Amino acid sequence: MSGSGKRLGFIGLGMMGYPMASRLHQAGHSLIIFDVAEAQVDKFVREHTGAAVAENLEAYADVEVLITMLPDSDTVESTLLGKDGRNRLIDRLPSGAVVIDMGSSQPIRSRALAQSLEREGLHFLDAPVSGGVKGAVGGTLTIMVGGDETKFREALDVLHCMGKTITFVGGPGTGHALKALNNYVSAAGLIATVEALIVGQEFGLDAGLMIDIFNSSTGQNYTTLNKAKQYMLSGTFNSGFSLRLMTKDIGTASELGESLGWDMSLGQKVKQICAEAASALEGTADHTEMYRHLQSSKTA
Ligand code: NAD
Repeated sequence: MSGSGKRLGFIGLGMMGYPMASRLHQAGHSLIIFDVAEAQVDKFVREHTGAAVAENLEAYADVEVLITMLPDSDTVESTLLGKDGRNRLIDRLPSGAVVIDMGSSQPIRSRALAQSLEREGLHFLDAPVSGGVKGAVGGTLTIMVGGDETKFREALDVLHCMGKTITFVGGPGTGHALKALNNYVSAAGLIATVEALIVGQEFGLDAGLMIDIFNSSTGQNYTTLNKAKQYMLSGTFNSGFSLRLMTKDIGTASELGESLGWDMSLGQKVKQICAEAASALEGTADHTEMYRHLQSSKTA
């Protein structure tokens, strides 16, 4: 371990968290890890010498930074605040520790969580990411950070192990707000691309050719560049981002709009299409399976 390494807690070793924690280990930070999926924890410890498993909450007693990479706000809150006032991880963290929620949580709840942590002498940054599993493995994630700017600067050495474009975007919750809105824009582009591919093919166009033309035309978007050929037309459907999580993100974006008095009529439609696909497909379905789903849902 290098002399500059920090003592980090890391909770959530899923598709994203595993490679992110791996990069922190590689950079010389000392890691206390946890995931409810024991197989993930065992694998991580086998592959990363020196990483320690948090057998109980006391294990986090001297971490400087605690990172969560969990599915949603419910999981983050129950992890930090426990249930019915018991098993509160925040009671075990040392005063002054920084909690960084890098998952895609709900901005309004993150803002409230930041206040709860501040009252306990802790700090909170919401630092969600974009760039998918590929970005997590390569350390090239885009990270959008909300919270206290001084704490953001102090956390940059840690964040730089995982991301390339790291931007302070405002007060508590703004990182999570921006992430949800980004994923709304991304999902709208994905659905538009899929619908265009289906209609175009039925009219006799070649799908690969369509993507090539979109990519040199104004229809270009993240799906046309990075998902259509790679995960949809190839039939692999294994981008590593689940449809369930994408549906959650669109819900977050439209709830944010509603809380501010905005109807987001396209947002509602995108949310409805995602929810229908999520209930029609298996719980583990990749979000790129939207292509398979919409192909099979043609009305007469
Ligand atoms: P994932 O489902 O693969 O991983 C989540 C991990 O959290 C799992 O390993 C699960 O066992 C663990 N977990 C669940 N409840 C837990 C608990 N109470 N305590 C400890 N561990 C628990 O999800 P993911 O794809 O890694 O995404 C994580 C977060 O990042 C989500 O908020 C997601 O929306 C966001 N995100 C995902 C991607 C992507 O491409 N997959 C990209 C950007 C952001």
